[in-house]
Amino acid sequence: MAYKIVIDPGHGGSDWGASYEGRKEKDDNLNLALAVGQILSDNGIDVEYTRTDDVYNTPFEKAMMGNNAGADFFISFHRNATGIPMASTGVETLVFSDSGIKAEMARNINEELEKVGFVNRGVVERPNLVVLKRTKMPAILIETGFIDNEEDNKLFDQEFDRIAEAIADGILTTLDLGGLAETPLYKVQVGAYEDKAEADKLTDSLRGNGFEPYMIFQNGLYKVQIGAYEKLSNAVAMENRLRNAGYPTFITT
Ligand SMILES: [Zn+2]
Repeated sequence: MAYKIVIDPGHGGSDWGASYEGRKEKDDNLNLALAVGQILSDNGIDVEYTRTDDVYNTPFEKAMMGNNAGADFFISFHRNATGIPMASTGVETLVFSDSGIKAEMARNINEELEKVGFVNRGVVERPNLVVLKRTKMPAILIETGFIDNEEDNKLFDQEFDRIAEAIADGILTTLDLGGLAETPLYKVQVGAYEDKAEADKLTDSLRGNGFEPYMIFQNGLYKVQIGAYEKLSNAVAMENRLRNAGYPTFITT
């Protein structure tokens, strides 16, 4: 499928974004964006970043980077602030308009983040934001909690890995649904692990036995699969080959 996604860590350099008691939004944005980008890369997405260190570009320049990359999606990472400590809490994802696949992706990400413990403030239309307005591809801007809310910061720090996985999951789920809408395809699943190292080990073992597995990250698990097949009979044939080689399997769509 080879989707290309531009990841935009909000602010940077002289532009701190919001800040609270020495904590700078630009740093949180970069850390989370890199973590999500890594998970997306691991799942076969072609990822480009508007920045990978502490530099400043205008929102317009960032939008142009997305357009020049010819990306399928543009995803901007931010944290919210009210200026009044503890006044607000939760996640929201901003879109130019509440329609199409970007709104679906925004909703899926919010729902995954809700499972991690954030209040879900919903999908919000912000047609005047430059990175949403000037990008040519579906674009979203995730506000992962309020930087001037200590509870949100605690969740952000303590559940950082789960938060990154939740956002990646929301993105990947949206793409899977889009890709499978027309014809159901049968895939043979050989294993599903929370630990990526276990999934890597199985992938290597399968390759060593002449199979061509791939890994996807879905619902918090690294799944090792083979396929896809349009005919169930072909998936069953692969399943038999795998079972003869000693692997437990099941067929999924
Ligand atoms: Zn921001």
